[in-house]
Amino acid sequence: MLETTHEHPEWVKRRVARSFGVAEGDYLNISPTGVRGVWVRHGLTTHEARVAWAAKQPEAKYRVVCPSCHRSFLATGKPPFACPHCRVGGIHPR
Ligand SMILES: [Zn+2]
Repeated sequence: MLETTHEHPEWVKRRVARSFGVAEGDYLNISPTGVRGVWVRHGLTTHEARVAWAAKQPEAKYRVVCPSCHRSFLATGKPPFACPHCRVGGIHPR
């Protein structure tokens, strides 16, 4: 995990930005400085603090509308999701 953080610092910051409720797509526009600011506000400047914080977060929930059958469903975890009605996959929440 530490190794991953070291090798993909940007990836980690984007994940953090997204986990703080930044919409998919928008998080790419957040600067590392901005993410660091969020970390400071939440007391998460150390890796240990971030791991402890992440363990306490509930899984992200998304209300997703299927682009194929246009029915909505509640998805948890990480996108992309698959539609439980028509089985279309690769769906990203808006
Ligand atoms: Zn569908």
